[in-house]
Amino acid sequence: MQVGRWQVSTLLDGTFGLDGGSMFGIVPRALWSGRHPPDDRNRITMALRCLLLTDGQRRILVDAGIGDRLDDHQRDIYRYERADGGLCASLAAFDLEPGDMTDVVLTHLHFDHAGGLLKADGQGGLEPVFPAACVHVQEEAWSWARGHSVWDQGSFFPADFDVWEEKLDLHLLQGDAEIGEGVRVQVTEGHTPGHQLVLIGQGRGSLCFCADLIPTATHVRLPYIMAFDHLPLRTLEEKRVLLAQAVEEGWILVFGHDPFTVACKLCVHDDRVVTGESVVLNTEA
Ligand SMILES: [Zn+2]
Repeated sequence: MQVGRWQVSTLLDGTFGLDGGSMFGIVPRALWSGRHPPDDRNRITMALRCLLLTDGQRRILVDAGIGDRLDDHQRDIYRYERADGGLCASLAAFDLEPGDMTDVVLTHLHFDHAGGLLKADGQGGLEPVFPAACVHVQEEAWSWARGHSVWDQGSFFPADFDVWEEKLDLHLLQGDAEIGEGVRVQVTEGHTPGHQLVLIGQGRGSLCFCADLIPTATHVRLPYIMAFDHLPLRTLEEKRVLLAQAVEEGWILVFGHDPFTVACKLCVHDDRVVTGESVVLNTEA
C-alpha cells in the first residue's frame, strides 16, 4: 500500500502465546475466548508483526519481533513459533536483506518488539541483525528498560542493552518526533514509559501502527486493556483520543499482535467506535 511517499508493508516474525487473561485485563474470558480461543495453558495466539516503510532511499523497519532468541524453557512458556526464516525471510520477499535497513523504529523495548535486533554471533556473544540501521527509541523507554523495573522485568532481555550501547547506532528521542517526511512517532505511555506508536501520512487516509496501545482489533473496545499496562486508565484515555481522531480522519489502524486482522478502518455504532472493514496492505509472508 502506498501512503504519501512511502510504500507500506507488514512483515511477520512469527507467532507466540500469551496468557489470555493478561491480554484482556478485567474483561472476562467468556467475552474474549470466542475470537481468541485459549489453549490448555490459557495462552492465546499473538502475531509478531512489524512494519516496513520504503521510499526508494530509506528502508525503515518498525519493531523487530522476538528473533531467534528464546531458549527451550522460554519457547515452552511462550509457545514461540517462528515464521520460516522469521523476519529476515519476510524481508527477502521484498528483495531486501537485513543490511539494507537504514532505520529501525522501536515502539518500546519489551522483548517481543526488540529481541529481534540482535542474534548470536557464533562465538557466545551477540551482534546486530541490522548493522547499518539507526535505531530510534524514546529516551524514556531506554532509561526505564535499563532501570531494572521490578514490574515488567520479565518483559526485557536485560543483557541486550550493553550490546546495544556498544554496537548499535542508537538515536534517543525526547517525545513526539518526525523520523522521515510523513513518518511520525507519538508517545503514549499507558502501556510502558516511552512507548510510541507510528503514524504515516497526514490527516485523511493516514496509517497508524498502534503497537501495544491497541495490540489487536479486539482491543479497540475501550475497557479491553492489557493487565501488563502500567497505567490502564491512561491507556483508556489515550485510546479514546486516538480512536476519535482515527474515525474523524478515516485512518487505517495496523495491529502488531492480531493473528487474524492485520489492519482495518473504524466506524461508529451506537455511539461507540468499532472495527470496520479490513484493509489488506500486502500478502504477509
Ligand atoms: Zn507487545
